[in-house]
Amino acid sequence: MFHVKHSEGALVFSISRFLLPIVVAATAILAPCRAQTFDLLLKSGHVIDPANKINAVRDVAMKGDTIARIDANIPATEAKKVVDVSGYYVTPGLVDIHTHLSVEGPGGWGIYPDLSALPNGVTTAVDAGSSGWKNFEEFKSRVIDGARTRVLALLNIVGVGMDPVGEQSLAEMDARPTAEMVKKYPQILVGIKAAHYEGPEWDAIDRAVEAGRLARVPVMVDFRPQPTRTYADLILKHLRPGDIHTHMYAQHIPLLDDSGRVNDYVREARKRGIVFDLGHGGGSFWFRIASPAMEQGFTPDSISTDLHQRSSLIPQATMVNVMSKILSLGMPLEEVIYRSTVTPAREIQRPELGTLSVGADADIAVLELQKGNFGFVDSGHGRHIGNQKLRCMLTVRAGKIVFDAEGISWPEWRKAGKYGVVE
Ligand SMILES: [Zn+2]
Repeated sequence: MFHVKHSEGALVFSISRFLLPIVVAATAILAPCRAQTFDLLLKSGHVIDPANKINAVRDVAMKGDTIARIDANIPATEAKKVVDVSGYYVTPGLVDIHTHLSVEGPGGWGIYPDLSALPNGVTTAVDAGSSGWKNFEEFKSRVIDGARTRVLALLNIVGVGMDPVGEQSLAEMDARPTAEMVKKYPQILVGIKAAHYEGPEWDAIDRAVEAGRLARVPVMVDFRPQPTRTYADLILKHLRPGDIHTHMYAQHIPLLDDSGRVNDYVREARKRGIVFDLGHGGGSFWFRIASPAMEQGFTPDSISTDLHQRSSLIPQATMVNVMSKILSLGMPLEEVIYRSTVTPAREIQRPELGTLSVGADADIAVLELQKGNFGFVDSGHGRHIGNQKLRCMLTVRAGKIVFDAEGISWPEWRKAGKYGVVE
């Protein structure tokens, strides 16, 4: 909505009938330029938008729930609300493809998405298998529908989802109804999850892949090798190109050989298109594996948290912290952002996410890059000191400010006039 200044209205009514149509036409042309075209403008931030190859100070303007314009200088007068984000990085809303969001019932050690995602700049959180085809719809109404975060999900191959008994029962793993449920909710269900099965057979993996084939979606696997089920066979034979192995730096994964070199077959699997995802979690991120692997160039395709109640406190597997850990191991900031936005969105076949393209949903993270000495802890509570740390200052979801760590979008209270409760 735009409004015309009163003086222009007065002018229109004071001139002759003869000139009126001309002036009305001229006003219609001029008015949008003078009006507040945008609803929200983030001004003077350093934009890193890898999808559009932007890494520079830019203004970002939003209209309604979409990105409307990105430019070197968009006048503050053109927006209803302006937030000065100079000194901060402005990135697409982060996409975390391994989270746990079910807070009760089977697999109920998750964290409600708006509490785990939004304060960490995550605007798209993918629940990794809390529910299966038998209880997805309940999970959807209980967790997904009411969240401000965009919640997507990987459907567990186990019909009852992440239930400790169900996870060990092959009778619970049926590819066909799993695929049918994915096809019923293509906007939300972006893949299949297989995890935690401890038997000697390949069935849990193979049935998940079969469901993925039927529904044309990728499979994410949390895998613990057995003598009858090796990691090499998983990534070379059982998974398809585009399928995702999460927990790549876990100590139970033989990424490195005995001399600390990245195994050749792991590189071969990457060449054939297997995706290697970080999936920090409570037990799956070890500096002693991640550091040598990254030194040898074996970096994560995507950075994800596996954030849940047990990984949140000591290893602090929040998205900005996990990104900071990877930053502390030498990955440049722009690439850290790329692997937390563009690549995860691509892996779940949603390339329209994780970008600041004009017309895209206005999902944005404003990040502070702190400098100093910061201790980071891995899953074994090994400590690593880094000199940079990301902190989320502001999160915008669908054009609305949904998190603001220090109130940078609000006026100083003495100047705020009469104000009400912020929701
Ligand atoms: Zn997990």
